[in-house]
Amino acid sequence: MAKIVILGAGIAGHTAATHLRRKLSGEHEVIVISPNRNYQWVPSNIWVGIGRMKSKEVHFPLIPLYKKHNIGYIQAKAVSFHPEGNAVEKKPYVKIEFLYGEKAGTVENVSYDYLINATGPKLAFDLTPGLNPGTNKAFSVCTYDHADHAWQGLHDLIQKLKKTNPSEKAKILIGTGHPKATCQGAAFEYILNVEQELHRHKVRDKVDITWISNEYKLGDFGMDGMLMSVGGKPMPSDELVEMVFEDRGIQWILGAGVNKVEDGIAHYENLEGEYKSENFDFAMLIPAFSGHGFNAFDKNDADITDKLFKGFMLVDADYTPKPYEEWTVQDWPETYQNPSFRNIFAPGIAFAPPHTISKPRKSKNGTEIFPAPPRTGMPSGITAKLVADNIIDSIKSGKESLHHKGSMGNMGAACIASSGYGILKGKGISITTYPIVPDYIKYPNSGGRDLNKTFGALGLAGHWVKLSLHYAFIYKAKMKPFWWLIPE
Ligand SMILES: Cc1cc2nc3c(=O)[nH]c(=O)nc-3n(C[C@H](O)[C@H](O)[C@H](O)COP(=O)(O)OP(=O)(O)OC[C@H]3O[C@@H](n4cnc5c(N)ncnc54)[C@H](O)[C@@H]3O)c2cc1C
Repeated sequence: MAKIVILGAGIAGHTAATHLRRKLSGEHEVIVISPNRNYQWVPSNIWVGIGRMKSKEVHFPLIPLYKKHNIGYIQAKAVSFHPEGNAVEKKPYVKIEFLYGEKAGTVENVSYDYLINATGPKLAFDLTPGLNPGTNKAFSVCTYDHADHAWQGLHDLIQKLKKTNPSEKAKILIGTGHPKATCQGAAFEYILNVEQELHRHKVRDKVDITWISNEYKLGDFGMDGMLMSVGGKPMPSDELVEMVFEDRGIQWILGAGVNKVEDGIAHYENLEGEYKSENFDFAMLIPAFSGHGFNAFDKNDADITDKLFKGFMLVDADYTPKPYEEWTVQDWPETYQNPSFRNIFAPGIAFAPPHTISKPRKSKNGTEIFPAPPRTGMPSGITAKLVADNIIDSIKSGKESLHHKGSMGNMGAACIASSGYGILKGKGISITTYPIVPDYIKYPNSGGRDLNKTFGALGLAGHWVKLSLHYAFIYKAKMKPFWWLIPE
């Protein structure tokens, strides 16, 4: 009998738990440990943040679902890793802390045969002084409750604008809130949705909207941009995004590392080394994503954190420091297995990327200003499933099996950015990228991407696809009949 402990119940953790449970017989234990007892379909938080979906439509409670499907659940957070056990606990274990209920504040050890660290990122608001969702007129849409607050803030501004005359312009600022933030795609979706909603509420003419980002060029998205096929013709992503922003009257500030937020003011440094600021009446700024700061200890309780973590968790990537030009797709991990402890895996955002995808850039003062590599929903689901499949094979065969592999260097991503909500008036920008990490050797003439599989399209159909994905993925996450037939 094997005991598999999964830390985190996001896209990666929940995907791994559901596949493990489906394919392993009941004698094996599958236990999820996560501080939030709800599952949330994060991509739809964009629509919560514009008031077009209620937060209850994007999340649901995990306990009844897990009970029904014989998946164990503990509402707590992991605090430290003990992969060799110790004098008291003979088996590997993870220390967890209870946050709620009568056990709040107490810790417990949970042993495992296999451990899946799917804790995603820490939303590191603390790395940008003053950036705290719901304060200083700055908001976030990274979680459903942040998105609720963002809608409240936006709604209040819209109501205020309805009473002002057009000469009193308000300012909305949306983008990245840290010099090395990632997840530009989410901010991009949000800015376009906000723009459309302002039209719907008939106050668009009273607002200046500005995109602020650590990207060097528009459309970088932390993936160094992409050359894509649009309507059968090659087009770089910066031109596509520029076209969309110009069409919507959105201004932009690039190469900006936001380093402090005060009431209605974002302070930033640009690549020229200038220190500037931008006023706003409403802002949505994505924070830095960092590791959770976990520590690890060996059997003698000596600190071995560097065997497990480099911010995020170390996996089968090539972390040898190299100049940007020498990094290759082969550096990216394929099995998400920790090299020191072969029964520990880290799919989704929890693994440490070997290098940035966007070119690293420094301001004239030496501040690093560039997007960190994104690990979006689709790769998070795919990597979690392959980790689950390898664990299942290993348990069934009685020996380590790592046949299931998938690197972001040979994996595509379909990103459908909703750019306006509505069955008839909705809009979407569908971008598929293959591979996610550009392979300049295989595709030397098209910016490292396969032009037959990297394309962009604009229109209502994109919105419909995005909306269908919302329902399909919530259906799948709720483990409704034949849920496993829906791909990650
Ligand atoms: C607003 C927004 C929109 C997005 N839109 C898209 C999109 O359209 N398409 C797309 O592909 N991607 C999108 N993404 C990215 C996508 O949401 C992420 O790639 C995905 O959520 C990552 O999944 P994950 O499971 O690795 O991490 P997470 O979803 O962050 O899950 C981490 C889990 O770990 C838990 N946890 C945290 N700390 C601990 C701890 N100490 N112990 C135990 N558990 C812990 C958390 O509670 C959570 O359950 C979007 C992201 C955002 C923020």
